[in-house]
Amino acid sequence: MIKGNFPLEQLKSLPTPFYYYDVELLKQTLATVKDESSRHGYQVHYAVKANRNPRILSIIAEAGFGADCVSGGEIQSALEAGIPAEKIVYAGVGKADWEIVLGLEKGIYCFNVESEAEIKVINEIAGSMGKVAPVALRINPEIDAHTHSKITTGMKENKFGINLGLLNDALDLLQTTKHVHLSGIHFHIGSQITDISAFQALVIRANEIQDELESRRIKLEHVNFGGGLGINYHHPNHVPVADFKTYFDAISALVELRPGQQAHFEPGRSIIAQCGTLISRVLYVKEGETKTFVILDAGFTDLIRPAMYDAYHRIENLTSEDEAAQTYDVVGPVCESADVFAQGIELNTTRRGDLIAIRSAGAYGEAMASQYNGRRLPAAYFSDTL
Ligand SMILES: *Cc1c(COP(=O)(O)O)cnc(C)c1O
Repeated sequence: MIKGNFPLEQLKSLPTPFYYYDVELLKQTLATVKDESSRHGYQVHYAVKANRNPRILSIIAEAGFGADCVSGGEIQSALEAGIPAEKIVYAGVGKADWEIVLGLEKGIYCFNVESEAEIKVINEIAGSMGKVAPVALRINPEIDAHTHSKITTGMKENKFGINLGLLNDALDLLQTTKHVHLSGIHFHIGSQITDISAFQALVIRANEIQDELESRRIKLEHVNFGGGLGINYHHPNHVPVADFKTYFDAISALVELRPGQQAHFEPGRSIIAQCGTLISRVLYVKEGETKTFVILDAGFTDLIRPAMYDAYHRIENLTSEDEAAQTYDVVGPVCESADVFAQGIELNTTRRGDLIAIRSAGAYGEAMASQYNGRRLPAAYFSDTL
């Protein structure tokens, strides 16, 4: 079985489970994103929620990226990592007052607002602080991203964004709110999108919306297309970097930006997913009547994507040289039937103590870890400081 390139001798001596990050791959990915986006003059804000490990954030900050945050805590993490406030955007359906105050105090680039109720509250808070809040309207473009139902966000009447039918009301409201300045429009149609035509449909819809806004004499400084570009979970060894060229070129071919207007993007998963691996040790190989279970010391408390989204992650036995593959269910120790990483997969013959790599876990892995069952949060190690 083909395996990733891991410094096995060093990893063997570390207490499991832990996240291992390939810093060279992260830097290579960031350089690719930078090249392919700056060719078109696009601005990129990394979606912090995918992974807000401080070391990861500081590498992303050093590469000159902005941050897309979904909470006050993420704004603080981004600032601490060295991302300047003027490169921070803040989205979320439920911004608390203290989070709005924090964003205004720090002078972030933009609040991506999701309802009329929120516009009124931001207007009030900004007014009491003697400030004007820059906002972008997050619009539901009603584009089906063809992805898992729990990570699709651009359809009508899900909790995110303002429906197209309510856009005019929101624009009317914005003419009365003196402490809010409309700076742009924002979209985010979902995550793990591998069908470029969904992004093409989004750009066409954004063009139509811009035409409508122009008929109302509204000029925008930026159009934000959100994140969502998918990665190849099945072939992390062959496709370690997502196809950013196809993505940005497809958008550039269709988008009708107005003079001086900027296009913004918020990739999360596609930047960090392939750089992270959850490394775990086999506690037991349990023979059932019809199945053989590999019981790991990592569970859904360390990586919840398989339990939460039925997500596939490639799993490799790093230590077994035994090429005779066998069929296993790979599970964690948490007391929940959902604590399953994979069913009926092939691994090299596996024994107690083997090191197991769960690949493509850099995004929504460590960031979603919990202490359920009294478990410790996973540690993180980096390829360049092992
Ligand atoms: C989650 C999220 C992103 C990042 O999505 P990815 O699929 O990880 O690229 C970007 N923008 C917003 C508003 C989000 O909620």
